[in-house]
Amino acid sequence: MTTLDFDLHIIGGGIIGLTTAVKLQARGVKVTLLEANEIGQGASCGNAGHIATEQVFPIADASMLRHIPAMLFNPAGPLRLDWRYLPRLMPWAMQLLLNMRAEPFERIHQALSSLNQNSLQAWQDFANQWQLKDWVKGQGSLLTIENPNSVNPLIAHGKRLNDIGVTNEWLTKEALLEREPALQDNQLNALFFPDTGHITNLTAVINQLTVTFRQLGGHIVEHCRVLDATHSVDGIHLKTSQGAMIASKVMLSAGAHSKMLAKQLTGINVPLDTERGYHLMLPHESARLQIPVSSMDRRFIMTPMQEGLRLAGTVEYAGLEAPANMERAQVLLSLAQPMLNSPLNATDSKPWMGFRPSTADSLPVIDKIERVLLSFGHQHLGLTQAVVSAQMIAEYYFDEEHTIDPKPYQLARFK
Ligand SMILES: Cc1cc2nc3c(=O)[nH]c(=O)nc-3n(C[C@H](O)[C@H](O)[C@H](O)COP(=O)(O)OP(=O)(O)OC[C@H]3O[C@@H](n4cnc5c(N)ncnc54)[C@H](O)[C@@H]3O)c2cc1C
Repeated sequence: MTTLDFDLHIIGGGIIGLTTAVKLQARGVKVTLLEANEIGQGASCGNAGHIATEQVFPIADASMLRHIPAMLFNPAGPLRLDWRYLPRLMPWAMQLLLNMRAEPFERIHQALSSLNQNSLQAWQDFANQWQLKDWVKGQGSLLTIENPNSVNPLIAHGKRLNDIGVTNEWLTKEALLEREPALQDNQLNALFFPDTGHITNLTAVINQLTVTFRQLGGHIVEHCRVLDATHSVDGIHLKTSQGAMIASKVMLSAGAHSKMLAKQLTGINVPLDTERGYHLMLPHESARLQIPVSSMDRRFIMTPMQEGLRLAGTVEYAGLEAPANMERAQVLLSLAQPMLNSPLNATDSKPWMGFRPSTADSLPVIDKIERVLLSFGHQHLGLTQAVVSAQMIAEYYFDEEHTIDPKPYQLARFK
């Protein structure tokens, strides 16, 4: 199958591939989107929907190290390692540990900040342009505590963030309960982050973007897995589950599944693994909360969505092949209930597991190398950073000046 009449083949139709596809197609690029399953059914549909611009530090930091053993030996805890996966995880985990040192930690923090500080505005502009406004909210989010020992760490966290321009407001218990009356009065204090947002219906956003992309003339091939990519003089040869294709340019955005194709397309072995996460959707609880509420002590988030209350979180290191352990999703219910002042209705609840695409330095790869564009590895922040990443890819595509310094996200850092 010769497909050189397209300018660009995008591999992977998650939120990263889809937002970029719309942005480029709208600017006249003829895009075809190749998706192994169905558009937007990976991590992008099951995440917590939080436009988490306040998360400007890598998830893994040195202060966590002393808690890790306790977390790992608690089967219901926020962190789980499948010990059988440890040998494969080791090289990635070692790099993750090295990145907790002061110098790389600060560099990564700066790079996350650069992406996040533009993310909410970028989402809102994108939502206005492409009829997504009903589902993209910029009403802020809360980070609560209930353990008295957490008061000082929360104060310190809020101050550290305010000092670097991530605005947040300290809430007393009264102010917190006034803002979210459904919370139990065991919640002692909170930080309110006004410049964050949430998406109330990820499925609707994905469907609307899919329709828009098609209306703009974009082409989608679902159930088309790219198995192999090789460069040749006439383009990039793609071996797919639907036959062979030749692409003049390719963008790789296959989320946690990008490692092998990145190696084939660029020769570089990216330290990419997956931090599996879970959610439990409670369809009869959509009106319980106004805005996303995260618990610092319990390490999970509750996001109000049109389809219900989504309880999400946990990190599980078990690779891409091990079956989901849906008990981890059920644990989220027992974490949520004590935070709320009346019983949750868990009838018809649905568990879910998905693959966060995580590099060992917690930064995405956003780059262009000759005919290959790359946008993957957005770890815990792929929804937040999707539109900003699409903007950066458009700047690469059209050789425009970069609005964000592109260097920290370039592939060369892994050479
Ligand atoms: C529990 C959980 C909660 C989260 N909460 C948040 C949050 O609140 N805020 C936030 O910003 N981020 C959050 N995230 C992270 C976010 O979901 C991801 O970073 C983001 O969805 C990654 O998007 P993606 O398009 O790169 O990957 P995906 O959504 O996984 O999409 C990749 C696509 O590529 C396809 N694909 C794979 N291999 C191939 C191939 N060979 N050929 C063709 N197609 C292929 C897949 O089928 C898939 O559709 C959360 C993640 C999880 C798991």
